[in-house]
Amino acid sequence: MPCRARFGNCMAEQERQRLFFALWPDEGVRRQLAGYFALLEGCGGRLVAVENLHITLAFLGSVDGGTRQCLEQAADKIVTPPFTLQLDQLGFWRRPQVVWLGAEDTPAPLHALAAAMKRAMVSCDLEPDERPFQAHMTLMRKARRPPIRTSVDTLSWHIEDFALVLSDTRSGGVHYEVLRRWPLISA
Ligand code: ATP
Ligand code: MG
Repeated sequence: MPCRARFGNCMAEQERQRLFFALWPDEGVRRQLAGYFALLEGCGGRLVAVENLHITLAFLGSVDGGTRQCLEQAADKIVTPPFTLQLDQLGFWRRPQVVWLGAEDTPAPLHALAAAMKRAMVSCDLEPDERPFQAHMTLMRKARRPPIRTSVDTLSWHIEDFALVLSDTRSGGVHYEVLRRWPLISA
């Protein structure tokens, strides 16, 4: 679509993308994740679409092309080994009204990966979230009540890469697109 002057600085705006780094499940893991939905029937919220389930490593916000390039170059340099995440807990955050699936133990490589993401953001002049990283997969939004069970059957998810994901929230309902993936590698 041509850029019209009345939209002001529209070239720059058009180039901005809402991005985040994430752990992105494959189809097999997604099928297993959907099995947890049955435990949330009394929570009163809206389930996340199965194809949208993910764990956010770092929310990057709306970034321009130069910043995206900087972040991709920083991601090229991240050296973290593959690891297995044992998803075994349901949790509820009252204020954001989300029910999530998480892990009692966060593996050291996952902490390292999240820390590397924060450093990547700083190196690209972005402000990372100040809160400590808490690995969680949002299963339900606008939840009104916590799930009855908190301890659940373990899903062992072997993670061998991370992804840069585009979030498109304009077209009614969120749509995510994986833009690029990086393999996890041992030093
Ligand atoms: P919607 O905002 O339309 O409900 P969404 O939250 O799934 O959809 P985004 O807001 O683009 O989509 O967020 C993408 C991912 O980044 C989600 O996992 C979201 O929880 C996380 N996220 C969004 N905003 C922040 C933030 N300010 N800090 C940390 N994580 C965030
Ligand atoms: Mg959001």
